[in-house]
Amino acid sequence: MTSPAELAEAFQSLYGSRPRIYRAPGRVNLIGEHTDYNDGFVMPAAIDFSTSVAIDARDDRRIVIRSENFSEPVELDLDQPPARGRGDWSDYPFGVAVKLEGTGQRLRGANILVRGEVPIGSGLSSSAAIEVATGFALLDIAGAPIDRLDLAKVCQQAENEFVGMRCGLMDQFISCFGQTGHALMLDCRSLAHQLLPLPENVRLVVCNTMVKHELAASEYNARRAECEESVRLLARELPEVRSLRDVTIEDLERTGGELPEVIRKRSRHIVSENARVVAAAAALQREDLKTFGELMGESHRSLRDDYEVSCEELDLMVNIANQAAGVFGARMTGGGFGGCTINLVAADSVDIFKQTVASGYAQATGRVPEIYVCTPAQGAERVA
Ligand code: ADP
Ligand code: MG
Repeated sequence: MTSPAELAEAFQSLYGSRPRIYRAPGRVNLIGEHTDYNDGFVMPAAIDFSTSVAIDARDDRRIVIRSENFSEPVELDLDQPPARGRGDWSDYPFGVAVKLEGTGQRLRGANILVRGEVPIGSGLSSSAAIEVATGFALLDIAGAPIDRLDLAKVCQQAENEFVGMRCGLMDQFISCFGQTGHALMLDCRSLAHQLLPLPENVRLVVCNTMVKHELAASEYNARRAECEESVRLLARELPEVRSLRDVTIEDLERTGGELPEVIRKRSRHIVSENARVVAAAAALQREDLKTFGELMGESHRSLRDDYEVSCEELDLMVNIANQAAGVFGARMTGGGFGGCTINLVAADSVDIFKQTVASGYAQATGRVPEIYVCTPAQGAERVA
């Protein structure tokens, strides 16, 4: 865990003044995969890995930023904002600064030091963590009120338009709204959300397959297009359907016969996954981890067989996990074709679980997986 005092020291020796410190967490998605861009339901939790930002205002309108995770310091002149990023890590924090100013907010120049402990590029959303931490910090030192929903939206806009990554709102939303000990069910259409306490005796264990297949980006776009095609076809008979969110399993069974086989399978994943998120939320409310874990297993099979975004390594990782002691459920998480699995594991079995997965996976693939043990954490905040 980052010690704020140590980060303040590092900032002071770099810039010569005392900073304020802010942090924002990464996240993991418990269930609800590929549902976000179909106006559906997701269930992320903020995790106890976060990105910290040490910051002090400057007298001019320049932002000078340095990240301990990258070597070069970078500068931005708020009075000459570029329309798009330059293609490096600074696009994430600078995109947020530029988009905040775009909302009419007048920011102050600042010196910033970033320290990230969210694994980068592993599907735990280090990108949202740096965006939200920077946005929160810039607003606060400008004396501006912080509306968390507005902040999440500006960060998403920065990633969409300044970085050029077409992501939904989930990551930024949970980084702003996460609560210690809770997962959060989010309706991606209305943005209505519900906090769901996670029993204290379980951990969220993320296992990294350490592979990322080339297919990921092109297949992601292909799935989005298939979902849009499904809506177009279904709307001929069900005119009120605007997204797969509006479709039920019964609708699909009644009208789905006319859909091409591939489109029908893709649709069945989205429609059944939305229903699973709702059922999982109900299970969590009655502390029924067994049912919750079974729903995770169904989610994985649906992603594997109907949505076809899993891969050999993810399936292997899930199979090994399912045979380990103390596991309630396991599934792939994120876009697919590599990346991580999420596992719900009894706290007192975490060590043996880690050993089982690490050795089983290494034996079968020759790769040593990274394993992160997480508990649900608090959203963005100023650190004393
Ligand atoms: P993920 O969000 O799954 O970790 P992304 O590819 O969406 O992966 O975002 C990772 C990118 O975000 C990094 O390549 C870098 O540009 C930026 N980033 C994340 N954390 C930091 C950090 N601590 N310092 C600087 N840049 C960071
Ligand atoms: Mg990201």
